[in-house]
Amino acid sequence: MNSENQIQTILAAQRAFFATGQTLNLQWRIAALKKLKTAILNYETELTTALTQDLHKPLLESYSSELVLVINEINYALKNLKKWGRPQKVPASLLTFPSQNYVVKEPYGVVLVIAPWNYPVQLALAPLAGAIAAGNCVILKPSELAPATATVLERLINSTFDSEYITIITGDAAVSQGLLEERFDKIFFTGSPTVGRIVMEKAARYLTPVTLELGGKSPCIVDKNVDLEVAAKRIIWGKFFNAGQTCVAPDYLLVDQAIKKPFYAAMQKYLIKFFGTNPETSPDLARIINLRHFQRLETYLASGKIIWGGRSNPEQLYIEPTIMEITDLESPVMQEEIFGPILPVIDYTNRNEIFNIINRHPNPLALYVFSKDKAFVVTILKRIPFGGGCVNDTLSHLTNHHLPFGGRGTSGIGNYHGKYSFEVFSHSKAVLKKGFSCDLPQKYPPYKETHRLIRKFLLK
Ligand code: NAD
Repeated sequence: MNSENQIQTILAAQRAFFATGQTLNLQWRIAALKKLKTAILNYETELTTALTQDLHKPLLESYSSELVLVINEINYALKNLKKWGRPQKVPASLLTFPSQNYVVKEPYGVVLVIAPWNYPVQLALAPLAGAIAAGNCVILKPSELAPATATVLERLINSTFDSEYITIITGDAAVSQGLLEERFDKIFFTGSPTVGRIVMEKAARYLTPVTLELGGKSPCIVDKNVDLEVAAKRIIWGKFFNAGQTCVAPDYLLVDQAIKKPFYAAMQKYLIKFFGTNPETSPDLARIINLRHFQRLETYLASGKIIWGGRSNPEQLYIEPTIMEITDLESPVMQEEIFGPILPVIDYTNRNEIFNIINRHPNPLALYVFSKDKAFVVTILKRIPFGGGCVNDTLSHLTNHHLPFGGRGTSGIGNYHGKYSFEVFSHSKAVLKKGFSCDLPQKYPPYKETHRLIRKFLLK
């Protein structure tokens, strides 16, 4: 299935199918979205079982952050697709009067969607839903690091769609590289900044537009003027959801020194409440995806003073939810995105320190600030560039399909969710339509002194 020739055969079939114009029909797309929704519901148990196999994902997390998010995306597209797909009228300008002007959303054509392993259902199927809504043919490449989920996704897609319309190609980085050798009309990639660079380089050869949903070190600021209990509860939840393997998880905390001690106590209280005193036996904590990532995370455990946690078990790919105090910003845990259940805490005495620390890893995918001080919150939101985030909460911004989801700089290019998912897979085609009467004679040569009129009326 995955040799160069086979990829080219599938691509040629998809190009031919796209050229028939069937996907331009909104009813076609609506029917395809309904098929996808039915398939997901039919495969519900297989998907959640696979997520348990790959990540030991708690059932609630599988539903809330994988299946429900995708079904919501599909439902929202189904509700709005006719409206989104209509040409949007815009006013004529002084220079184009009289004319009708509108923007037509047209599909790119054949698009490639590459997904990561941490939310292997959501991050494969939510972009797929957007690509279908916008009228594209799709080649979907799930992550090889969540193999049970990739296998179920393969069956789900193969039993639902003809391969000339939507194809899934499973495999590792080499397969992904093989795909990137080909010309697509759009590439939507979710994964690490390192691979994001490779994707963009490959796409550049064909000038293929890319959307890159990447990661980074997302800070979480805890001001002294705060409800400690609520802040601790929401941070512990957001950090240890999916065992910290979330692109928008709070990567590290910046805590006002004045409240550091009571804040540690509040976080410990919620760690015990959520996962018990031996979290290894908790059914509500996911596992690390594989031994390589486990070993990477284990080395971080020596990076600072452990305040809570610190135990691990390679056989279970288990790392205990860990809070760690950091005094040296050069320590290994502060160099890369952690992507695991380890939460470094750095304290500050002067609020200006916050900006310097965050600027060591600029343009994070997410930022969280907990404070009752409105002016402080406004300053943080204004002065620090980041993809998206929350005030007094974590993760939740990505669950609102009215908000665009994406990064900036090293955390990504472009965004999606809700209507943005339709737009990210559509080209905005500008159309100006004129009748045959009513023409301004001055715009045609010989121009004579017309420039004087232009200068007088338009150059101001
Ligand atoms: P990854 O970049 O290693 O892999 C992502 C995909 O790229 C996989 O399908 C993989 O097969 C493929 N791939 C791997 N190496 C490749 C190469 N050399 N050439 C071409 N393709 C290659 O990422 P991951 O480990 O699966 O996911 C973790 C990263 O993804 C983290 O950085 C995380 O922050 C980020 N992430 C971002 C979002 C988001 O929405 N912004 C969501 C989830 C994860």
